[in-house]
Amino acid sequence: MPITRFAPSPTGYLHLGHAYAALLAFRAAEEGRFLLRIEDIDPVRCKPEFTEAIIEDLRWLGLEWPEPVRHQSQHLADYAAALDKLRDRGLVYPCFCTRREIDQEAQRAAHAPHAEDGTLVYPGTCQHLSASERAEKLARQGSATWRLDIAAAMRQTGKLFWHDRVKGWVEANPALFGDVVLARKDVPTSYHLSVIVDDHAQGVTLVTRGKDLFASTHIHRLLQALLGFDTPGYHHHSLLTDSTGRRYAKRDKAATLRDWRERGETAEQVIKASFAFPDSLS
Ligand code: GLU
Repeated sequence: MPITRFAPSPTGYLHLGHAYAALLAFRAAEEGRFLLRIEDIDPVRCKPEFTEAIIEDLRWLGLEWPEPVRHQSQHLADYAAALDKLRDRGLVYPCFCTRREIDQEAQRAAHAPHAEDGTLVYPGTCQHLSASERAEKLARQGSATWRLDIAAAMRQTGKLFWHDRVKGWVEANPALFGDVVLARKDVPTSYHLSVIVDDHAQGVTLVTRGKDLFASTHIHRLLQALLGFDTPGYHHHSLLTDSTGRRYAKRDKAATLRDWRERGETAEQVIKASFAFPDSLS
């Protein structure tokens, strides 16, 4: 029996694209369980009023889930424990580079590699620090960004695969993003780390989410292997677009569920509109 989840970040109001994603996860749970998780690790961008609005909008759509809802901001100790395990095995290292230093370092390299999503691949500067340099910088700066040593991690796991409902079996290629950040200086975790800890803690067996997160699964599969977690199945679905072909975004006021409601539309009309999208079943 599938256990699925919808895991929004409360950084704005839900729009038609979210309604589609939430409904897809709800329906994919069939006779199993559909969970709601609030991904609120970023204290600057996430707001409690958006969490309340998300819950209200999903209820309005007719969705139900077991309580309590997992709020990531209340589980920072779980993410810290997972990071400690990786640290004990020498698989993460502290990075002291500022964004500017990373940009400058990349410019010095003739062909600075970029990941699929356009982000710069970290050039590995701090990986080469000695143990005493690390200790000295940590003592002086008080905190650091923690990065996963992808090459060392992959040496431990060997080849990895995951199953996607649309693409079939996929071989993990975690090196795509370089040494990703697992814990930020200001937030002691990251999207990648908290998602895999939570999917494991909540017993999620099928992750449904938009295609924009497909590449992240390469990293998630590696982290699951390192931490001894089972790998769920995945369904990376299409992203809804408006009539001009543009993806819905939280800033598009007209597409928010609140706005549909204020215009007097019913939940049935929203559900029909989101599933009317021509490519919505893949
Ligand atoms: N919190 C992420 C978002 O709102 C989704 C994470 C996931 O489904 O893995 O885009």
